[in-house]
Amino acid sequence: MKKIASFTVDHRFIKEKIYISRIDGDITTYDVRMRKPNTDDVMSNALMHSFEHLFATFMRNSSIGEDIIYVGPMGCQTGFYLLVRNACHKDVLSQVKEVLEKISVYDGKMPGASEIECGNYRTLDIEIAKEEALRYLEKIKDQTESDLTYETGEV
Ligand SMILES: [Zn+2]
Repeated sequence: MKKIASFTVDHRFIKEKIYISRIDGDITTYDVRMRKPNTDDVMSNALMHSFEHLFATFMRNSSIGEDIIYVGPMGCQTGFYLLVRNACHKDVLSQVKEVLEKISVYDGKMPGASEIECGNYRTLDIEIAKEEALRYLEKIKDQTESDLTYETGEV
């Protein structure tokens, strides 16, 4: 079988940053990498799920909300994929940072936290998601749109 594109990236060099994973026509897939791969520091499922609810909701309500195609967790528990139509990297990066900031101080209810709206709503925990947003914002706050390419050099 053909090796899929994301397996061709050397995960030893991936940092806690945002990368452009791939571009397919007018759709850009961003690698929102919140934890360094293959460490003991991956996110719990409850954390990923909680962050997913807030991150997806806030991104879809951001200034680029209409162009957000998908926000979804990586099975390896180290980050999320963010798919954006007609993406301007600068705007995407600034909106992700703004959304992280908003989540970190969010004072409302967890969106979609009911049996009707979610497949496992009991695991949702707003506080751990807020902590994670702040943690990741600290990692990417100085990253710029000229720095979205996967590293291949030394760890
Ligand atoms: Zn859910």
